[in-house]
Amino acid sequence: MKIVCYCAHADDLVLGAGGYLARLAAEEENQVTAVFATDGLMHPPKYTDTREWAKKACETLGIKEIKWLNLQNQRFDSYTMIDINQRYEALELKPDLLLTNSKNQLNKDHRIIHESALVVTRPLKKHVNVLSFEATPWRVDPFMPQFYANITETLDQKIKALEAFKSEVRQWPHPRSGKAIKTIAAYWGMHAGYEYAEPFKVVQWFK
Ligand SMILES: [Zn+2]
Repeated sequence: MKIVCYCAHADDLVLGAGGYLARLAAEEENQVTAVFATDGLMHPPKYTDTREWAKKACETLGIKEIKWLNLQNQRFDSYTMIDINQRYEALELKPDLLLTNSKNQLNKDHRIIHESALVVTRPLKKHVNVLSFEATPWRVDPFMPQFYANITETLDQKIKALEAFKSEVRQWPHPRSGKAIKTIAAYWGMHAGYEYAEPFKVVQWFK
């Protein structure tokens, strides 16, 4: 199966779907590609280049292929939707399953990429199953998942992948901390009857 994680920023992949993607990437028949809409650069006041961190995080999760759409971080609303969609479509990835940011997020970049994901996976040429995930607990609407991945075996990989993001990693109770990852995974695990889980919304599903 061909799997694409199409998200705004590289840490979104780790925080929202790192555990499930590590499971998928470990299966030999799967090919996982990370598509980050950002250019990987933090813009003023800092100019940190996060691309090497992203590469290391993906390696930790077993993801070998990374693509960047090179949109300026936190300024996705300065691009037209057609421009963003065309950057994605130019990659010609044709996945069977696509994971993306959820639309309930406060972060506008996340909401924009959710919308782009809906457009590029319209069932015209191919039926693409789509799941969305929360990269942060900062929301404009509630998150009501319907799909749970058991990440008990891959939780440590997910925490290690976050650690690649050096200065982006914060102290608890910030959600970008190892303790937050574990706490959130335990919270959703409680819902799903697993030790640790990652929750997803089913955006569209075809069988
Ligand atoms: Zn993000």
